[in-house]
Amino acid sequence: MSTRSVSVGSLEIGGNNPVRVESMLKTPLEDPEECAIELHGLAEEGCEMVRVAFPDPSKAEALRILLSQAEIPLMADIHFDPDLAVLSLKAGVPAIRINPGNMGSPERLAEILRLAADRQAVIRIGANSGSLSGTQLAEAGNDRAMTLVRAVEEQLRFLLKHRFENIILSAKSTSIPETIRANALLSERYPYPLHIGITEAGPDLRGVVKNSVGIGILLNQGIGDTIRVSVTGPSVKEVETGYSILNALEIRRRGFDLISCPTCGRRRIDVQALVQRILPSLGTLPDGFSVAVMGCEVNGPREAAHADLGISGSPNGYILFSRGKVITTAGTDNLEEVLKSVLDRIGPK
Ligand code: SF4
Repeated sequence: MSTRSVSVGSLEIGGNNPVRVESMLKTPLEDPEECAIELHGLAEEGCEMVRVAFPDPSKAEALRILLSQAEIPLMADIHFDPDLAVLSLKAGVPAIRINPGNMGSPERLAEILRLAADRQAVIRIGANSGSLSGTQLAEAGNDRAMTLVRAVEEQLRFLLKHRFENIILSAKSTSIPETIRANALLSERYPYPLHIGITEAGPDLRGVVKNSVGIGILLNQGIGDTIRVSVTGPSVKEVETGYSILNALEIRRRGFDLISCPTCGRRRIDVQALVQRILPSLGTLPDGFSVAVMGCEVNGPREAAHADLGISGSPNGYILFSRGKVITTAGTDNLEEVLKSVLDRIGPK
């Protein structure tokens, strides 16, 4: 993890702070009402910061309104036009993301730095494999990971020369090995917080796998202070997946942990159907509370001996257990009733 931290509004990122979960609004600023709804949904899901594309000066008022409604900090995503960086900072965003090398002349970038410094705003230098030029690639011997690092470094040098250190770094690629190498190098060389993710990871299972593998490997190496899962789909899925990655790595807990066996020839019940059946009865269990759904009484309670609450199939219905010890049994008709009374006894008070 980084040794430095920054504050994006009230959100501390980097250093000893928890790994943060971010997303990006998919609704354009043209539709402020939908933006506010999406933003609220993200905050409810546990999203801690949201990036907003700010592509056009005429949307400055919409950005200002969104800022006034936001429960969590916003980061304006700026490309090519330094005026947009200036406008968004003046509108009050606590952070902007710039793409290395596309903020116009050194004078314009220096102006952005002065404004950001006055407002204590954070600048994220975000390099993306899609915007690497042929020249940059050739200069790095066609080493794409190194090209990403160099793009970040070139911009970083300028910021540091202007004594601007309220910085987050980011280097993303569609390739997992490239992203890992680029971030490992940045983490080795600089103390600044790192935002990590795999760009354009794709839809559904492919997207979830790519994000989980890429982000998971980096986090497991202690690299990354804030994550964004990239999913072709609703933004809340990005947040949900982000927390699932953190849960799986036991880095951060949000929501209860659901364990279920893959089933085998010993199964007494349809585990998939039972998971769906009991989900409504579990309500809002506390972060980290573990529930196991297992196919048989022979191995279930033993295999899920660490679970706070377990249910396994049995010849006559279900067995309910906690930490490997059987508590009671239930039939198909009264499962919800028994589950409720068990949760009242062993669940959160
Ligand atoms: S708990 Fe039972 S049904 Fe599930 S995988 Fe283990 S042995 Fe098979």
